[in-house]
Amino acid sequence: MLICQCCDPRLNVFTRRMNAETSRRAVLFGAAASLAAAALPVQAQTPVPPGKEVLFENVHVFDGTSDRLSSPSNVLVAGRMIRTISTVPIAVSPGDGTRVIAGQGRTLMPGLIDAHTHIMFETLSQIAILTGDIGFVNVAAVKAANDMLMRGFTSIRDMGGPVFGLKRGIDAGIVPGPRIWPSGAFISQSGGHGDFRLPNDMPARPGEYTYSERVGGAAIADSPDVVRLRAREQLALGASQIKLMAGGGVASPYDPLDVTQYTVPELRAAVEAAENWGTYVAVHAYTPRAVRQALEAGVACIDHGHLLDDATAALMAEKRVWWSLQPFLDDRPSPYPEGSANRAKQLEMYRGTDVAYGLARKHGIRTAWGTDTLFEPAIAALRVEQLTKMVRWYQPAEVLRMATSVNAELLALSGPRSPYAGKLGVVQEGAVADLLLVDGDPIADLRLLEDFERNLKIIMKDGVIHKAIA
Ligand SMILES: [Zn+2]
Repeated sequence: MLICQCCDPRLNVFTRRMNAETSRRAVLFGAAASLAAAALPVQAQTPVPPGKEVLFENVHVFDGTSDRLSSPSNVLVAGRMIRTISTVPIAVSPGDGTRVIAGQGRTLMPGLIDAHTHIMFETLSQIAILTGDIGFVNVAAVKAANDMLMRGFTSIRDMGGPVFGLKRGIDAGIVPGPRIWPSGAFISQSGGHGDFRLPNDMPARPGEYTYSERVGGAAIADSPDVVRLRAREQLALGASQIKLMAGGGVASPYDPLDVTQYTVPELRAAVEAAENWGTYVAVHAYTPRAVRQALEAGVACIDHGHLLDDATAALMAEKRVWWSLQPFLDDRPSPYPEGSANRAKQLEMYRGTDVAYGLARKHGIRTAWGTDTLFEPAIAALRVEQLTKMVRWYQPAEVLRMATSVNAELLALSGPRSPYAGKLGVVQEGAVADLLLVDGDPIADLRLLEDFERNLKIIMKDGVIHKAIA
């Protein structure tokens, strides 16, 4: 005999249980959704209330795109935006609360942008991070964030690390620091550049995560399905782009520099996940083979590429892929002992830097500037010097353009997943007021930025003054 569901007392009980379960879950889901909403990245700092204006009088503007300073100008900031730029005086009525800053002919320029950071990992040694409490790592990163801002860096593209908490703290105005375009955990194959397990952690035990995975620093993923899963997790957490390790690296223990990491289907799984989410994948890669594989998979930004050849650079130009290149030279203290495998890899990579910049120029590739400081406390203090030494390959105005408007274009590659609204990297009417008032002309003497304590008179981010000295 057939019994319809609504007549079957057993099914009715089952259905009632299901309804109760469904409503219980709905309540739980509602609570979880509220928690998730509370945990979502805060979009931006609270803007200065309308009416709170700042007027820079008598400044020469470096607008982020030209190769010279403007004639004496006046720049009015209203809230978080640049409202007016004019060579004629801008009238403000006394008593309306406008703060007037006498520029005295100094330079007003956009805040600097570093296109490749690991803010969570830059001021502590590798051993301190791998063995230390994550709370301690966060405290160190808070200091790193403040140090960056005080050097004039108002935005960074963070290329791997558990940065979401710090970003949220900065965006909420709890601690000072730059805007952060987070990648979250970098995704690496086993034995790849993001695998910092100890040898006795292998073989991996299925279902168990390594320390760096548990704290959100790295994600070990082998196979397209797991890469896709890990990429989607980072996107869910608020990553503005996805970072994969596509070839050998200097700091990591297992991978020689020449190895290619991942396969095209694995890389493509991440690219599809990112593109479906409205953003892109950047990869760590040095060699032609690793870069070509990434290009085939649809990666939009190659980070590093110091060992590239002419044909691969030409392919990057043809595909209009970004080259996020760093001025790595053997001119700074190394965290690796002389004679160690890591040091040998470092020196091999350094030898490619001059060629790489030559290729980037020759092929007109869109080239971003970044520092990629990692586990090097002494180098984190030399962020500005990593910028000023770019005159080895570029004119000072080109260097300043790269660290402002060009890097801002790379940030904009995150499209709708960019965590911050508004135009950055330029001094233009309607752009976001991330501004530096510099004592002197940085186009004539780029190195004056190195003495940031003395020469950065005003540091403004999002219309808020974070430093002002006479
Ligand atoms: Zn890096």
